Amino acid sequence: MYQYIERQAALALPRLKELRMDLHRHPETAWNEIRTTKLIADLLSKEGYDVVCGAAVAGHETGVIATLHCGSQTGPVVALRFDIDALPVKESDAFDHLPFREGFASSHPGLMHACGHDGHTAIGIGCAILLSRMKEKLNGTIKLIFQPAEEGARGALPIVKKGWLDDVDYFMAAHIFNMPPDFPTQYNIIPGVSHSFATTKTDIIFHGKSAHAAHPSQGIDVIPAMANLILRLNQIHGEGFIHTGTIQAGSGRNIIADYGKMELETRAPSTGQDHRLNALLRESAEKIQKQYGVSVDLQVTGSAPSLESSPSLVSQITALFETEVPGLHPWPHMTEFPASEDAAHMINRVKERGGQALFMLFPASLAADLHHCDFDFPMELLSLGVTAFVSCIFFLLSKKS
Ligand SMILES: [Zn+2]
Ligand SMILES: [Zn+2]
Repeated sequence: MYQYIERQAALALPRLKELRMDLHRHPETAWNEIRTTKLIADLLSKEGYDVVCGAAVAGHETGVIATLHCGSQTGPVVALRFDIDALPVKESDAFDHLPFREGFASSHPGLMHACGHDGHTAIGIGCAILLSRMKEKLNGTIKLIFQPAEEGARGALPIVKKGWLDDVDYFMAAHIFNMPPDFPTQYNIIPGVSHSFATTKTDIIFHGKSAHAAHPSQGIDVIPAMANLILRLNQIHGEGFIHTGTIQAGSGRNIIADYGKMELETRAPSTGQDHRLNALLRESAEKIQKQYGVSVDLQVTGSAPSLESSPSLVSQITALFETEVPGLHPWPHMTEFPASEDAAHMINRVKERGGQALFMLFPASLAADLHHCDFDFPMELLSLGVTAFVSCIFFLLSKKS
């Protein structure tokens, strides 16, 4: 059966490529994935899935949950998560950037699928199509979660809060991964992330008092306060780091700025360390507020705990790939994912209920790293991803209970 899965995934590659190119041409950022949502929902409805989209998924207009009931349904519930959103990155128009050269670069100026979520979505659709054909051979329930707003770590938690993970016994997700230079090239899949960075995304809003720049004593200037805070935060190292990504303030050179906004994030190797970093952030903001007389308001916009796969599921799936799936060559160690992933919220919910979770990486030598305007990935990862996920589902749902 595993060879059948691999063959079908390879045969699906031309269609998956078309899908990926279409998604790449039409990137949509967090909570705006309207076209992407419709495309997924339409395709999966035709494949016989129970499809839910709209506010019932994550409280917004976007995202899809597609459920397939297989056999007598006495088997476990397995959920797969695919993220669907793009980034506010202006895509490269260099001739050596393949999406540009091949004519499928972003048609939405300033937006780009620079994190591979177009690939993840195409893999999810590929899995859906193949699994619906294999339905008679499976026993249990498959839940495909097409998650909006992974960037900014915003989309997973509302899905958890809506209860979509409450009946899930096994959870799986994956990310395309820029292979480190020393990674042995004979391995083409990492079936288990040991941990990822925990992260918290915060907006800081500053209010001061406007005045003519010739009379600074009549105003309260937010810009020196912001500058001081940025420098203080830059000096916090050790357990992780605080990165200021954007600042906006002021309306003219001769006006005391009464409003400012910073967008920043913390990243740390563990959830506890991330909490400590955020305590330091709040402490620094309070000091600045007192020192400059400005008002400083911290608004958390997203977060993700550290993500940890379940070791026993990792070893079962590693052994499965090694022995049963000829095209998959699993890296035999759990590996850290040097990024953040809000699927961690889903994983934690599944584990709380006694379930198990797996987060895989699809390593490839990428033209540029994630979030870069030259990012791209080899299309072969699409069939590899389908093979990996569908093999896992067959393994979990074909066992005699
Ligand atoms: Zn990303
Ligand atoms: Zn990503």
